[in-house]
Amino acid sequence: MDARVNRPNDLASFWMPYTANRAFKASPRLCVSAKDMHYVTDDGRRILDGTAGLWCVNAGHARPKIVEAVQRQVAELDFAPTFQYGHPAAFTLAARLAQLFPAGLDHVFFTNSGSEAADSAMKIALAYHRARGEGQRIRFIGRERSYHGSGFGGMAVGGIAKNRLAFGAQVQPVAHMRHTHLPENAFSRGCPAHGKELADDLERLIALHDASTIAAVIVEPMAGSTGVLLPPEGYLARLREIADKYGILLIFDEVITAFGRLGTATAADYFGVTPDIMTLAKGLTNAVVPMGAAVASHAIYETVLENADVGIEFFHGYTYSGHPLACAAALATLDVYAEEDLFARAASLAPLWEERIHRLRDRRNVIDIRNLGLVGAIELAPRDGAPGARGYEVIERAFEAELMVRVTGDIIALSPPLIVSEEEIETMFSTLETVIDAIE
Ligand code: PMP
Repeated sequence: MDARVNRPNDLASFWMPYTANRAFKASPRLCVSAKDMHYVTDDGRRILDGTAGLWCVNAGHARPKIVEAVQRQVAELDFAPTFQYGHPAAFTLAARLAQLFPAGLDHVFFTNSGSEAADSAMKIALAYHRARGEGQRIRFIGRERSYHGSGFGGMAVGGIAKNRLAFGAQVQPVAHMRHTHLPENAFSRGCPAHGKELADDLERLIALHDASTIAAVIVEPMAGSTGVLLPPEGYLARLREIADKYGILLIFDEVITAFGRLGTATAADYFGVTPDIMTLAKGLTNAVVPMGAAVASHAIYETVLENADVGIEFFHGYTYSGHPLACAAALATLDVYAEEDLFARAASLAPLWEERIHRLRDRRNVIDIRNLGLVGAIELAPRDGAPGARGYEVIERAFEAELMVRVTGDIIALSPPLIVSEEEIETMFSTLETVIDAIE
């Protein structure tokens, strides 16, 4: 069989997201199928999925229960509007999520992505303050080196300098706390000891802008896409304290952390800090059908509904909010998580994961290693004058060696499906050792 029979002749027209298009198209990495822990490439190689796709395939690929649920759903009800109409699965799913999440976080607004979830969470915060007669609270506090998706809202609160360079001014008034990545925490195991006081940046920004102008503070409990940056011990609890003191809503972006990544249903559970609004996506449907959500507290929902003066209390939504296929995928995914106790499985693998990743400490160019739950990052020193070059080489060499990783600049991130075996963890890190050793 022609090994590349599945390779399309023309790669030109797909403008690829977050990709070096020219470099990729010169030597493409194409996956044509996937099962459990592996992708299969167009030339028939099996690639170990070290990143659960994009931190999203938490139960592993092509799980029959999820596939069948989507197939059944599409044959039965392909689409139904959720504006002024509805269908059962959306209500059932929302109720199940409310059960799963910390008490009080029980109203679910469905979106199609994490980006839309961030925008929706921000609009919920604005609507809440307006409903309370505090419509002047329009400013958001984000944090440097945070990612909340690609929408204008998420981009504004996000703390990625390249967004400012690429797109200029932000539409939403925002201010940013400093990131929590401190050199003295290098090679910490789990959450770092230093840096709790960085949460006081929130109070500093409140003093500068005045609480009466601030709607919400948004953070990823554990920043993922910007390089796996962990919250210092006590940091999130301190944010909660300050937000409460000034009537500011606390939003956790749990797009990566929810659904078992840290060994619990949410990072809120893991850290014992409950936000007012939480955003979700990725593991919600095991990535089989796109779906996100903003989950708001009972108090927020009630306030918005009680005090709105128009028929439609919250003037927001997407054609595909609560799409039947996404709901079917999510319900089946929640079943798989529960039946296989996958969150607990992640928790039980975490010590081995931590032990194994830190064995890369003395490898060439490694300047930091970070881990929590089933997430890890290995940071390489940037090559002189070419930041990101070593990272890009890791992507290429790892794929050659049949491992998929995620790279941000020179930081290699790992977040395998929660079904990963101990042997596969060993394969992942021994492959990475070889790859890292080969890079100048
Ligand atoms: N928030 C976080 C924390 C994310 O990691 C991501 C995606 N990596 C998003 C938001 C955006 O999600 P999406 O790509 O589904 O829009």
